[in-house]
Amino acid sequence: VEMELMRAQRLESMSLLAAGLSHDLRNILQPLLIVPDMLKLHSDDPKIRQLADVITECGVRGNEMAESMLSFVRGSRRASEHIEVSRLFSAVELLLRGSLPSTVQLQFRLVQQDLALEGNFTELQQVLLNLALNAIQAMPDGGSLELLAEPVTDVDGNDQLCMRVTDQGTGMPADVLERLFSPFFTTKSNGTGLGLLSCKRIVEGMQGSIHVSSEVGVGSRFDLLLPISGRVTARNEVASHAPVGEGQ
Ligand code: ADP
Repeated sequence: VEMELMRAQRLESMSLLAAGLSHDLRNILQPLLIVPDMLKLHSDDPKIRQLADVITECGVRGNEMAESMLSFVRGSRRASEHIEVSRLFSAVELLLRGSLPSTVQLQFRLVQQDLALEGNFTELQQVLLNLALNAIQAMPDGGSLELLAEPVTDVDGNDQLCMRVTDQGTGMPADVLERLFSPFFTTKSNGTGLGLLSCKRIVEGMQGSIHVSSEVGVGSRFDLLLPISGRVTARNEVASHAPVGEGQ
């Protein structure tokens, strides 16, 4: 109990710190959103205009990051919108391809093109990126990273989208699987241990769930089950999802 209390207090002070930081960060980043446009007003030089766009891009991304950090610590959620799954996959693919080690093969499979979910695009994108980056880090010697999205029907007959991230990485032993979603649990020297917790919060905020299966030396699989808000035509029976701790 004492341990739990200490952890809760630590989480609380981290939250306060993060809230303050992200608030200040947003203010500091403001010029990055304005100055490049001013620069472009004063220059027709294509090189300068191109560089100005690079700065704007950084400002936008930094701002988004500060905002999601703020909403994470506040527990408040961003505006809900219609998320087109195909657009989400394209965005994630684009971002991943830019920083993919040459030893990792990326495979995207979208079983049905016209599905939509209800939630915040940036948050769900963050979830997929988190899972994909964890997968890449788990494959120091390379391997294949697969992102799959397919409609399934859950046990209650509801239409759900299963988004699956599969890697051929190190896999996780039972003691890691048990603590996967605990705040600050990390096995990495530079990890925060907040990635998966944040994924879980976002997915549960969308009335969805996360299911993990993993085998040491074989790889890991993260399944997100999310309610479909758009049209569904293909109906596959939901595969049985092994609870945390069982093999693939
Ligand atoms: P962080 O990445 O900062 O460590 P996470 O919450 O994202 O925080 O992950 C917690 C831990 O779970 C990681 O340190 C790692 O040990 C383990 N983990 C997560 N994803 C995978 C994966 N795909 N393969 C192997 N281990 C993983």
